[in-house]
Amino acid sequence: MKHPETLERERPGDAARPAPSQPPRTSVPETLYEKRKGVYPQKIDGRFRRFKWLVMAITLTIYYCTPFLRWDRGPYAPDQAVLIDLANRRFYMFGIEIWPHEFYFVAGLLIMAGIGLFVVTSAVGRAWCGYSCPQTVWTDLFQHIDRFIDGDRNAQMRLAKAPWGPAKIGKRALKWSIYLLISFATGGAWILYFADAPALLSDFFAGEAAPVAYATVGVLTATTFALGGFMREQVCIYMCPWPRIQSAMLDEKSLIVTYKDWRGEKRGSLKKAKKNPELYGDCIDCNQCVAVCPTGIDIREGSQVGCITCALCIDACDRVMGEIGRPRGLIDYATLEDCKREAAGEEPRPVWKTLLHPRTVIYFTLWAAIGFALLFMLGTRTHTDISAAADRNPPFMRMSDGSIRNAYTVKLRNMEGRPRDMEITLEGLPAAVMWTDDMPREQAASRLVRTVPEDATLPLRIYVVAPADSHEQDVTFHVLALDPQGEEDRATIRFNAPES
Ligand code: SF4
Ligand code: SF4
Repeated sequence: MKHPETLERERPGDAARPAPSQPPRTSVPETLYEKRKGVYPQKIDGRFRRFKWLVMAITLTIYYCTPFLRWDRGPYAPDQAVLIDLANRRFYMFGIEIWPHEFYFVAGLLIMAGIGLFVVTSAVGRAWCGYSCPQTVWTDLFQHIDRFIDGDRNAQMRLAKAPWGPAKIGKRALKWSIYLLISFATGGAWILYFADAPALLSDFFAGEAAPVAYATVGVLTATTFALGGFMREQVCIYMCPWPRIQSAMLDEKSLIVTYKDWRGEKRGSLKKAKKNPELYGDCIDCNQCVAVCPTGIDIREGSQVGCITCALCIDACDRVMGEIGRPRGLIDYATLEDCKREAAGEEPRPVWKTLLHPRTVIYFTLWAAIGFALLFMLGTRTHTDISAAADRNPPFMRMSDGSIRNAYTVKLRNMEGRPRDMEITLEGLPAAVMWTDDMPREQAASRLVRTVPEDATLPLRIYVVAPADSHEQDVTFHVLALDPQGEEDRATIRFNAPES
C-alpha cells in the first residue's frame, strides 16, 4: 500500500528535498521460487516487545496448564475443567457440558472465533498474527532460544556462515534438543485435552497409552519442530491463507504498522542529515527496523503480506528517534486515512475513532449477538432431551387386525448426575398406543415410563400402533421428567400410513 498523496505534500524544507526515490517500493520476482534468506532478528526492548512477552506468557500458560485444571462435576462426570471426551462424545468446559446433539454450541463458538478474527482485523489490523497466532508465539519462543544459545543477531549470522566444527555442532545440538523438547511438550499437551491429564500422562510414559496418543504426539512434535524451528516466517508468507484473507479485509480505516515516508524520506545517514538537514528526512537508514523484524522485511517498502504487525520495528525506530532527538512515531500504528491527514499537517483522529469505525461495530455487533444467543440458549436449556428416528423400510406395517404400526428409535437423554424417571407420551394420535422391545405387546399403552441412568442416553425401540383409518401425519413424542423440576422436551416425526 502506498501513500501517493502523502508524498506530494509540502512541508518546511521539502522544496529542497528531492522526491523520495529509494528504495523501490515494489519489485517483480525473477523466478517463482525464492530461496529462503536466513532471518536473525535482533533483540529489542520496548512497549510492544513487552506486550508480546505478556501475550506469550499468557497463551503458553493457558495451553500447557489448562488440562491440569480440575472442576468438580460430581461423581458421574470427569473432573477435568476442559475436556474433549471423544469416547463418551462430550465436551466439557468448566461448568458447561456439551452433548453431541448440542453440537450447535460448538459450531456457534467456531463462528464466534471466526467473526472475532474479523473484529480484531477490522479494528487493529493483523494483531492476531503479530501477537497470539500459535505460529507467531512458538516462532518467537524459538527465536529467543536462538539468542540464548547462539547470541544476538550478529553472532547468529556469524555462526550460520561458520564451517561445521565442534563448537557449531555443540550449539546446534543443544539448540535443536531444546526445540525438540518444547515441540514434544507442545504435542504432549494437546492430547491431554482428550483424556484425564494426570492419568494419561502416567500411561504415556509407562508405554500404556493408546497408539493414537503416541502417533498424535509424534505428528505434533514434528510439525512444531519444523514450523516453529525452521520454516518460521515462511509459514506466514507462503502457507497461511489468513494473510490473504486479511489483506482483503483491510481498508484505509484499518490500523496497520506503517512507515511515514513523507516524514522519513529522503533517507540518509545521521552524518549526511546533519550536514544537509534540508535534504534529508527523519530516517537515518540505520536498518534497525529491519534487523529486529521477525519476518525479515523492510517496512519502509510499504505494507506487505510478510508483515505480521508485531510492531517490533516501532520499538526499534522509536529507540533510534529517541537517541537522535527526533520525534518518535516515524514507524507507527496508523490507518492510511490518518497518514494522509497527518501528512497534510492535520491532527490524527483519536484512537477510539480509529478503532470504532462502522465495519468494526457491525462485526462486533454480530459477534456479540451470536454470543448472547448462545448464552441465552445455555441458560435456558433443559437437562432432558428426546430425539426420534423412524424406520424407513418398511415405513409402516398393516397388522392382522387392520391397525397400522410404525417403528421408531427414540433416544431419551438424562443430562443430570442422578437417575431420573421419564414419561413418554405421543401427541397428535389420541387413539395410538405404544410398546417397546422390553415389554409384551399386550401391555401397550398411551404412556410409557422408563428410568434413565444418570448422565446417560437411553435408546428405546418404540412401536406405535394406530387405528386402521389413521392417515399419514406428524406426531410428537413428548418426554416429561417425573421429578419436581418437571423438565420436558418434544420430538416431532412423521407417522406413515397407506394412502386412503
Ligand atoms: S529504524 Fe527508523 S530510522 Fe532506522 S532505518 Fe528504520 S525507519 Fe529509518
Ligand atoms: S515490519 Fe515491523 S510490524 Fe511488520 S513483521 Fe516486521 S517488525 Fe513486525
